[in-house]
Amino acid sequence: MRVAMIGAGYVGLVSGACFADFGHEVCCVDKEPAKIEALNRGAIPIFEPGLDDLVAKNVREDRLTFTTDLAQAVKSAQAVFIAVGTPSRRGDGHADLSYVYQAARDIAAAMDGYTVVVTKSTVPVGTGDEVERIIRETRPEAEFAVVSNPEFLREGAAIADFKRPDRIVVGTEDERAKDVMTELYRPLYLNQSPLLSMSRRTAELTKYAANAFLATKITFINEIADLCEQVGANVQDVARGIGLDNRIGAKFLHAGPGYGGSCFPKDTLALIKTAQDHEAPMRIVETVAAVNSQRKRAMGRKVIAACGGSVRGKTVAVLGLTFKPNTDDMRDAPSIDVITALQDAGARVKAYDPEGMEAARSVLTDVAYARDAYDCARGADALVLVTEWDTFRALDLSRLKATLAAPVVVDLRNVYRPEEMRRHGFTYVSIGQPLPH
Ligand code: NAD
Repeated sequence: MRVAMIGAGYVGLVSGACFADFGHEVCCVDKEPAKIEALNRGAIPIFEPGLDDLVAKNVREDRLTFTTDLAQAVKSAQAVFIAVGTPSRRGDGHADLSYVYQAARDIAAAMDGYTVVVTKSTVPVGTGDEVERIIRETRPEAEFAVVSNPEFLREGAAIADFKRPDRIVVGTEDERAKDVMTELYRPLYLNQSPLLSMSRRTAELTKYAANAFLATKITFINEIADLCEQVGANVQDVARGIGLDNRIGAKFLHAGPGYGGSCFPKDTLALIKTAQDHEAPMRIVETVAAVNSQRKRAMGRKVIAACGGSVRGKTVAVLGLTFKPNTDDMRDAPSIDVITALQDAGARVKAYDPEGMEAARSVLTDVAYARDAYDCARGADALVLVTEWDTFRALDLSRLKATLAAPVVVDLRNVYRPEEMRRHGFTYVSIGQPLPH
């Protein structure tokens, strides 16, 4: 099947490469010429494990191409995916749909013959209706259907998630479009990934409900962690103790600095706004968003407390900047709030991240970037572990202690064992674990 993928970002590029790998003929379109130039040169503009090989293979085998020419890609496509960004709208927190609507107008002008327009971007309930209206207005005679097919992949594990999804959600009542979607995803269907068919509005809402639920789970365990610290309990044991209950499940029960990234913060906010507009307020999600946004800066205060109450004139080393490991994505990363809180309190910040430093340079100011974890720790008065990259999981503790000016470690991901850290002579602070007697 011929597919056009509009938007070659984290979702569009991964989805496009995976569809090509299934055997479809995919053309990825992006309006950023630099991105397309890079892709046509064989360079991958984002860091996602395995993506370079997957793209190279499918380009080599002539199933995957890249262009800035949307009209050309859309003209010959039977399915056109919209995978553009839907960030928070500046000022009010609603999803900014301007990129989606622009894509819809451009697609409408270019499509030729029956076309299934599939919204993969995360969009508020009712957006499909508007996309349909825009296309109908631009091309009253066109034969088309607008389908919602939200994406659930996680950055850092995106290819595996796309190829082995827990489920595929397809929102349409158009039988012809349903057949096209089934054909597109047939390789997964054969692997027994359930394809859930539902109405378009239901599919749109399903994506927000999933993200809001996951954000709630994280925030819940974070608050349990705070209580653990006050009462001398251990959040990791609590998480295991509840997570083995199948009704709860063990995933997303890792206490930490608060959720960040390109999805949860903006999607919870957009859901809250949609719910308020429809007079069905989502009080739980409202609270989750408020608790989480306060938490990230509170992590800065935690570091300051570990440093004896002040960081003025001190140097703090930060390990891990991206919102999670195995990505270079800095969007809404907790590190941003932690670092600015430390800088506001007078600290100098050094940082190291295996993949995120280039993106970090455009969002953080006055940070000194290091070559590796030990270079980052050199001469610092405290070390903060913010993102749990594998390379930070087995640091040489004796070397680390000798490298730091003061042996203070704040581990916001509970990577290390408190007893071991104390045995090595560190002042060690983690999340939701009993403080030393
Ligand atoms: P992104 O910012 O990485 O990529 C979006 C791309 O679309 C950019 O390269 C941009 O240049 C391009 N673009 C915008 N308007 C365009 C147009 N009119 N024509 C051609 N290209 C255009 O965003 P992303 O992280 O890939 O997210 C895309 C959507 O998928 C969002 O709605 C997001 O919420 C959703 N989503 C993201 C993830 C994730 O992990 N990143 C997971 C699931 C769903």
